[in-house]
Amino acid sequence: MTKETTTKKRIVFCDFDGTITENDNIIAIIKHFNPAGWEDIATRTIATEISVKEGVGQLFRLLPSTLERAVVDFGISNARIRSGFPEFLAYCKDNDIDFYVTSGGIDFFVYPILESFDIPRDHIYCNGSDFGGDRIEILWPNPCDGHCANDCGMCKTTIMRRFSSDDYERIIIGDSVTDFEGAKLADVVYSRSHLTVKCEELGLAHTKFETFHDIISAMRAEQKGS
Ligand code: MG
Ligand code: ZN
Repeated sequence: MTKETTTKKRIVFCDFDGTITENDNIIAIIKHFNPAGWEDIATRTIATEISVKEGVGQLFRLLPSTLERAVVDFGISNARIRSGFPEFLAYCKDNDIDFYVTSGGIDFFVYPILESFDIPRDHIYCNGSDFGGDRIEILWPNPCDGHCANDCGMCKTTIMRRFSSDDYERIIIGDSVTDFEGAKLADVVYSRSHLTVKCEELGLAHTKFETFHDIISAMRAEQKGS
C-alpha cells in the first residue's frame, strides 16, 4: 500500500530576509540611513515589547519619502542571494514541489531582487509601501487571520493555513524567531540562525542548513529513504 504522505503535494514556504538573502534587508536599510531613534524601536521589537508590524511601521516612518530613490536603490543593491537558491528553485520545479515566498520584507526590494528568478508574482507574499506622504508608510496586505494574534504584519501562518495539511506536506524554510509559529504548523522545518536556536530550545524537529544546496541534499536523502 502506498504511504499516505506520498499522495500529498509538497509545498515550500520560504522566508526572504536572512534566508533567500544573506542578511536582513530591513535592518540594513535602517542602519544605512541611520535616522535618530531607530535603535530603540529595533530593540523593543526584538524584545517583543511591540509587534513586528508596529516596529517595522515605526522604523520606516523615521525616513522621509524624499529618500525613495536612495532607499530603493540601496535595498536592491545591498542584497546578496544565498548560495544554491537558483538550483533549489529548479529542484522544486523538477520534483513538482510548489514554491512560495512568505516574506516580512517590503515590496520595493523583494520583487526587484527576485525578478531574475522564475517565480510567479502570486507566489510571493510580502508587505507593501507608500511613498506618497511625507514619511515612508508600510502597507499590510496580508494580515493575521482569526487564528493568529501576533500582529505579524505579513502573517506566515495565515498563508500556510490556506493549504490544508490533508492535501499538502507543508515545508518551511527560515532563519528567525518570526518563522517559529510557521515552523510549529509545518510538517518539515529547514532552519538556520535564530530559528535553529528556538527549535532546539522548544524541542521542535528541524534540519539545519546554511545554503540551499544543503536543503536539496536533505530532500534528496529523504526521498530516497521514503
Ligand atoms: Mg528572515
Ligand atoms: Zn499572524
